[in-house]
Amino acid sequence: MFYEDFLPILSKAAEKFRERAQKKLKYCITCQPYDGGDYIWFHGEETTIDDILDSVGCPERYREDISGHLHCPNCGKSGFEQYETAGTEDRYIIEEEKKISRVLRRYSEKLEDFRKHLEEYPSLALNHYLGRKLLKEIENRRVDSINLNSTSWSRARIVNQSKVFNSNDMHAPELGLSEGGRFHHPGQSVLYLADSDRLAMEEAINNPNESTLVWIQKFAQINVITDILDLRYEWNNMGQKSNEIMYALLISRYIFEKVIDRNNKWRPQYFITTFIADCARKAGFNGILYSSSRSYGENLVLFNPNNSFVASHGNPKVIIYEVPKPNKYDADLTSIF
Ligand SMILES: [Zn+2]
Repeated sequence: MFYEDFLPILSKAAEKFRERAQKKLKYCITCQPYDGGDYIWFHGEETTIDDILDSVGCPERYREDISGHLHCPNCGKSGFEQYETAGTEDRYIIEEEKKISRVLRRYSEKLEDFRKHLEEYPSLALNHYLGRKLLKEIENRRVDSINLNSTSWSRARIVNQSKVFNSNDMHAPELGLSEGGRFHHPGQSVLYLADSDRLAMEEAINNPNESTLVWIQKFAQINVITDILDLRYEWNNMGQKSNEIMYALLISRYIFEKVIDRNNKWRPQYFITTFIADCARKAGFNGILYSSSRSYGENLVLFNPNNSFVASHGNPKVIIYEVPKPNKYDADLTSIF
């Protein structure tokens, strides 16, 4: 017999209230961190099951029975008492979700139209209302920028020849040599860096399911990197919160659109991002900080690789990128490529 077998059967009406209450219930006491036997409320807004049922208009007569049927979606605890402490979603998260749906309602169709327009006319961004608006916002500096304090950075290149690379080989490719990328046009010389060796490697490899030899060069940051356009998309570090259209670009994920086959020369996924990079360059920004679309962490592109923000640290080393072992708690790495 299972615990559930002893629960009172809910009427259709009660079931409706159970569903509504279950949607609101996000955390419980078990989810909270403990300090010397006492919990410290940390996740969600502290309330009780009874208050949650009250907030969905549940009549008193159903409440006790429904409580037993509820479970905590965060830790899996099942069965609550009517007056037990529980948690609803953080107010901050609710506000953020409201903002996201408002901004998407306003901009998602327009952005889709802009994306299609660029796919047909890649160099006519300013022929589209959103292209003009984005340039104006960025040029007038109504966007979020960031200064980066000393951190170390890494760059990776796949080992594809027997030549031993030195630090110069690991710096930005000279004018005319590079393939196009997310924030630069083919041949343009820019320096892409990642905030860890691991991320640099993950950004450089072509196939995450094949072990690969990779050159890694560390870079030391020698000066504060000023005037960086902030395109981070992380729950705690989100760029462009103060600019709606830029925020819409981030949450609609056009900035992070993936190129599935890197050998394909047609990459419309980069048309919005190279346009944003051109706008940022014109506005005098030194580069862009953005969240990785392949893995976890932050990438930086510096528009002028010759300025003195970073310097090679030591010589490059060859390391082996190993295919991560499957772990049921981790998302499959291939799923993000
Ligand atoms: Zn819980």
